[in-house]
Amino acid sequence: MNADLEQLIHLQQLELQIDHARRRVAEIPGVQQALAERLADQEAAVTGVRQRLADNQTARRAIEKELAVVQTRLSKYKDQLMEVKTNKEYQAMQKEIATAQEAVRAHEDRILDCMEEAEALTRELKDADAELKRQQADIARERQALEQERATLERDLASTGAGREALAAKLSRPALQLFEHVARQRKGLAVAEARDGHCMVCHVRLRPQVFNDVRRNDRLIQCESCLRILYFAATPATADGVTPSAQ
Ligand SMILES: [Zn+2]
Repeated sequence: MNADLEQLIHLQQLELQIDHARRRVAEIPGVQQALAERLADQEAAVTGVRQRLADNQTARRAIEKELAVVQTRLSKYKDQLMEVKTNKEYQAMQKEIATAQEAVRAHEDRILDCMEEAEALTRELKDADAELKRQQADIARERQALEQERATLERDLASTGAGREALAAKLSRPALQLFEHVARQRKGLAVAEARDGHCMVCHVRLRPQVFNDVRRNDRLIQCESCLRILYFAATPATADGVTPSAQ
């Protein structure tokens, strides 16, 4: 195989790796942001339930205070009942007592409702807290994995970058210029496999003479349609092999 062509295939492979790694590095801040938001949402859920529980307790204390007032009034009425002189006064006092007793029952019912709500909220808080702990552990693991991934990507980028420089230095100047020119026009994909008479990237059918020339791999030939530099693989490349399967 023509030395330039062989190195261009390798160069393309490195460029794709570099591009892929750079894209992934660029995605990482967004992933971290999403993790931070997920954590904040769960923390807000816990805070929300905690606040409802605090409100419930405040409401209950207020009802208990009102109840104490009503109970004081009730016992005062009961004392006064002993001292009434007339039947009419007695009946009026009985009525006051009945009203106060009704108010006591109403307050006690409200306190029971509060207690039931508090029980439900306590369960809800326990669940939300457990979910928060689970999410915190998950997110910490995901953050750590991201940091490791970023470190690996940066190491890979440094070595593929160095490999790219070394390869570019070995290429003839016209070959490198052609590659860079096509790469700029074709979103970084400047080399294409030719198989079964077709350019495997733009899928155009090559003229038989062009395909025959490409099969020899002895010089740089561009696809007449997409202008990519064509090569022929005796064993067709797999999707993750030498040839980028798609752009
Ligand atoms: Zn093409």
